[in-house]
Amino acid sequence: MTDHLFKLNNVIQNYVWGSDSSIHYLFNIPNPDQLPQAELWMGAHPSGCSKNQQGTLLSQIIDQDPATALGAYTQKRYAGLPFLLKILAAEKPLSIQVHPSKTMAEQGFKLENAQNIPVDAPSRNYKDANHKPELVYAVTFYQAMNGFREIEEIISLFEQADCQTLSGLLEQLKAEPGAEQLQNFFAAIMNMNAAQKAMAVHELIENLDKKARTHKGKEAFQLIAQFYLDYPDDIGLFSPLLLNIIELAPGEAMFLDAQTPHAYIHGTGIEIMASSDNVLRAGLTPKHIDVDELIKNTKFQPSTFTELKLKAQCIDHKKVFHVPVDDFNFEVHSVSSQGHSEFVRSPEILLCLEGNITISTAQQSIELQRGESVFICAAAHTYQCRGEGQFVRAFN
Ligand SMILES: [Zn+2]
Repeated sequence: MTDHLFKLNNVIQNYVWGSDSSIHYLFNIPNPDQLPQAELWMGAHPSGCSKNQQGTLLSQIIDQDPATALGAYTQKRYAGLPFLLKILAAEKPLSIQVHPSKTMAEQGFKLENAQNIPVDAPSRNYKDANHKPELVYAVTFYQAMNGFREIEEIISLFEQADCQTLSGLLEQLKAEPGAEQLQNFFAAIMNMNAAQKAMAVHELIENLDKKARTHKGKEAFQLIAQFYLDYPDDIGLFSPLLLNIIELAPGEAMFLDAQTPHAYIHGTGIEIMASSDNVLRAGLTPKHIDVDELIKNTKFQPSTFTELKLKAQCIDHKKVFHVPVDDFNFEVHSVSSQGHSEFVRSPEILLCLEGNITISTAQQSIELQRGESVFICAAAHTYQCRGEGQFVRAFN
């Protein structure tokens, strides 16, 4: 019989942009070799599947008894664990990216399969047939870019940047400041040949510290100077002029919608996403950029600043972050000595953020400290939380 509650052993991803200290200090995860600890994955994804204490893969435990682990609804609707939970610690910026909608992912995956492009080929865009909505919850101050700026703001920033190579394009955007011209403007920048790009970057970087005439300009040019250290000839150097720069305070969260360009810049947070690996890159990367496919998958709609941050709903002991998708739910719970209980409707993963908490089902009881996580089977029906501290609750 499957245990309804068990502790997880999770996979660390040592990507080069990761911090070598943040996950270690904040979540007490050992880092004996001083490697960059970029992400810790909690879930059943084949690229980094969690295990139970006996070393059995979570994916195997789910496959052996999906009715118990997932419950009838999740088993029927998703056939596996629909979400992936991560701790993410960015020391350097991650690539700018866009995730396809569900429909585009289904079509693209089918087409690339029909063209016999291996799933692990560098030129492959669609690794699976799923969308990849994401939510990020800040543990430290967390800086990111998310969504297009208002077009007037884009125009003002490019005027301040004063790149002669782009002046013709900028005039066209000023003449017709709408979604269609924004798409043309973006496509033309992405499609510059090597010589044009080198010239435009040279013009951008020249006297960078003297260019800002507005507060937003100052912020954008500081970021460009920072990106330039790691990516001196990357098209992503223009991204701070195009995209909103956002900083989350600890305890704040934002949603990253399909077809919206975004990049994480710096900070440690908890991320939850639909179980997918579909990423179309748009800069700050040495990897393959497929400009045509990127543009097909991008909404050229400015995101207003106020809609980027998620408003948490506070209900008793928990903060609920509502998202417009049903692949996952995300809550942050505070636990007290008198405790509280929760009903289970789906598989769940709990991650302890701080303190000392005890999670109990009818059969089992497990103590958790920061950085430790458990899987709860849908068949558990209910569990109790007691102690002193905070945990993240991921379910669907
Ligand atoms: Zn993303």
